[in-house]
Amino acid sequence: MRDSAPRVVIVGGGFGGLAAAKALRNTDAQVLVVDRQNHHLFQPLLYQVATSVLSPGQIASPIRSILRKQHNTTVILGEVTGVDAEQRCVFVDSVDREGVALGYDYLILATGASHSYFGHDEFARFAPGLKSLADAVSIRNHVLRAFEQAEAEEDPKRHRDLLTFVLVGAGPTGVEMAGALAILVRSTLRSEFRRIDPSLARIVLIDVAPRVLGPFAESLSAAARTRLEQLGVEVRLGHAAELIDADGVVVGGERITSKTVVWTAGVTPSPAGKWLKAPTDRAGRVRVQQDLSVPSRPEIFVVGDTASLDQDGRPLPGVAQVAMQQGRHAGRVIHARIAGAPAPRPFRYFDKGTMAVVGKGFAVLQTGRLRLSGFLAWLAWAAVHLEFLAQSSLRVSVFVQWVWTYLTGQRGSRLIVNFPEPSSRDPVATGARGTPSTGFRERS
Ligand SMILES: Cc1cc2nc3c(=O)[nH]c(=O)nc-3n(C[C@H](O)[C@H](O)[C@H](O)COP(=O)(O)OP(=O)(O)OC[C@H]3O[C@@H](n4cnc5c(N)ncnc54)[C@H](O)[C@@H]3O)c2cc1C
Repeated sequence: MRDSAPRVVIVGGGFGGLAAAKALRNTDAQVLVVDRQNHHLFQPLLYQVATSVLSPGQIASPIRSILRKQHNTTVILGEVTGVDAEQRCVFVDSVDREGVALGYDYLILATGASHSYFGHDEFARFAPGLKSLADAVSIRNHVLRAFEQAEAEEDPKRHRDLLTFVLVGAGPTGVEMAGALAILVRSTLRSEFRRIDPSLARIVLIDVAPRVLGPFAESLSAAARTRLEQLGVEVRLGHAAELIDADGVVVGGERITSKTVVWTAGVTPSPAGKWLKAPTDRAGRVRVQQDLSVPSRPEIFVVGDTASLDQDGRPLPGVAQVAMQQGRHAGRVIHARIAGAPAPRPFRYFDKGTMAVVGKGFAVLQTGRLRLSGFLAWLAWAAVHLEFLAQSSLRVSVFVQWVWTYLTGQRGSRLIVNFPEPSSRDPVATGARGTPSTGFRERS
């Protein structure tokens, strides 16, 4: 790589950004990956950290470790706060410096999404979402502490409130989390307490939609709902959460008293559209062209959850496969331009199918015209998730843990870890500057 080689800045080392970086490994370019976290996170398994199946280190890897053999690529820990498209630079806050301008010849924004409370940001304090490792560990701490508190509580009337867990949002995350919680309380914890019966814990899944797993075929939604109910999950559909406060949730005019409410409903894209002052869709995702570049800015690409692109008249979903395929494509377009090769064909998403797991040994899967639910779908789910973990060491470790949990019911990571209050100036300690702190702290 020449010193004068063009510089490609990739913001975000998630699914999209990492795929873009890998696609540039043989390019005569200086590639810089900037992320506010030091790790690439496999978000689809976050709920397993929140429910104690896996530990944080099993679903995340340092970005610099993943890219260690890629000699044209440098990884920088820092938070991008804006883009000057005229001057071709991004502004980065790092541990000890703010607003450092980082020039680029090509820019790929792969900054993902965060929680959306649909205009009710006041809910965030009482119903944290599940998006980062810090979120997952905080939820895990809270769930485990609820059982400890109930065991120590002399007044049985308080047990019910402590052991009521409400999940707001019955999409894949809510359904997977509800199923995993049900297994946790009804098998793993069952024999370990003396004063309380963990299996009597109440798990309530609510959504304004008329069915769970809205993006799936109706038959699979119905199968998932039946499975959840068999596991003892109360599924309450057709009503939005009207109020969430320190005492629980009001839904359909009824209060559900609970000390643990988790937000698994909406997401909102990163502010990339605002940085670029580019056209966005109604959700705020940047409208990109068929080569994934921004209109009138052929050197800037946006991929993944923060990009908006229609295919066959429908917007592409915010899923990992879209982000990975888009990241790879943006990398190839840039590679072709630098190498003076013909441009790749316009981007087209290849849908490999969608899956969600519901408790132990049961998943739903849809791909093309195939609809599958049950154990076979769960095996496919497990194989696909293992395949897409970032490093082979994680694959081995997660596989062993799953087999162990499947056979014994024991979970890998049930420690309640109390963190000291982080300094707001330290992006390493806070996990992500600008991300609201997880809401449980105020309530304990
Ligand atoms: C709980 C959960 C479960 C999910 N389950 C599934 C599933 O089963 N299947 C599926 O296909 N999809 C699933 N998804 C969605 C999937 O994870 C996303 O679609 C995918 O991560 C999008 O990839 P991305 O590269 O756009 O963003 P991300 O993977 O979120 O990566 C964004 C990266 O950008 C970094 N970043 C953001 N802002 C900045 C900034 N200002 N400066 C520096 N760095 C920044 C972040 O730290 C992060 O590393 C799930 C998501 C969640 C939250």
